[in-house]
Amino acid sequence: MPQIIDGKAISAQIKDEVKERVAELAAQGKKVCLAVIQVGNDPASSVYVGNKKKACAYVGMESLAYELAEETTQEALLDLIRELNAKEEVNGILVQLPLPKHIDEDEVIRAIDPKKDVDGFHPQSVGALCIGQPGFVSCTPAGIIQLLKRSGIEIAGKECVVIGRSNIVGKPMALLLLRENGTVTVCHSRTKDLKEVTKRADILVAAVGKPKMITREYVKEGAVVIDVGIHRNENNKLCGDVDYEDVAPVCSAITPVPGGVGPMTIAMLMYNCANSVSR
Ligand code: NDP
Repeated sequence: MPQIIDGKAISAQIKDEVKERVAELAAQGKKVCLAVIQVGNDPASSVYVGNKKKACAYVGMESLAYELAEETTQEALLDLIRELNAKEEVNGILVQLPLPKHIDEDEVIRAIDPKKDVDGFHPQSVGALCIGQPGFVSCTPAGIIQLLKRSGIEIAGKECVVIGRSNIVGKPMALLLLRENGTVTVCHSRTKDLKEVTKRADILVAAVGKPKMITREYVKEGAVVIDVGIHRNENNKLCGDVDYEDVAPVCSAITPVPGGVGPMTIAMLMYNCANSVSR
């Protein structure tokens, strides 16, 4: 049986470490405060925003919630971001994505002060990651590095294959694995012979957004498999990009869905917020 990488336990550990750090900061008279902006009332976004508020309360951070109407203009949203950039007591600013279609997401992300960019999506944060300078790192891939390290999985020198090249997951994931001295290949929808490439992986990260696409034909015997996908199957149960039942018997370690990568994202957001205080 493979090692089941326990994202629930590891994320709880990280949140407890952040809680201690927040208490230390409080003892020095420094508060940590995250501002969360949601535009519209997409039900999935509302769940994520609710979970972020709960996590802030758990670690002892303050959270400010801005729930704006669907028809909010881009200018009004940018004004709010500028206002929060200027507020000394706000350490982190997060704009819940996706935004309504009439708003230019890239411009909104660029408006956030990079010192408060706890999601790590600002071009300056991405550039810093790319050239190995300090900066905020996108929470989901940062969480995956923690999952690997805290499960005793060595990255240096390993063949790492990432399926997916989104700005939020695939690209920062590849950069982080490279920073950890992995030998990294990134696959996408135009990759030829995907299975040939993924079968080389010692560490395979699936961020492809297709339910259960990754079966054992894509996986080398003994590989570590990280499943970023989140979907609801035909019975309304959560599943990932990896066909867990099919793949688990052939790999050495695997993340389940739910309880793998999912809980890490918010834990790393809390980690980024606590760190934003010293920036
Ligand atoms: P995107 O849809 O933005 O990116 C998917 C990537 O997969 C693209 O780069 C695309 O290639 C590639 N792709 C699509 N089809 C294929 C294929 N048949 N073969 C090879 N590559 C393919 O998704 P995200 O990166 O935002 O998210 C990926 C998954 O992770 C989703 O299921 C999402 O729900 C989940 N997710 C989970 C999070 C968590 O906290 N656990 C956080 C964020 C996302 P191309 O670029 O060529 O189009």
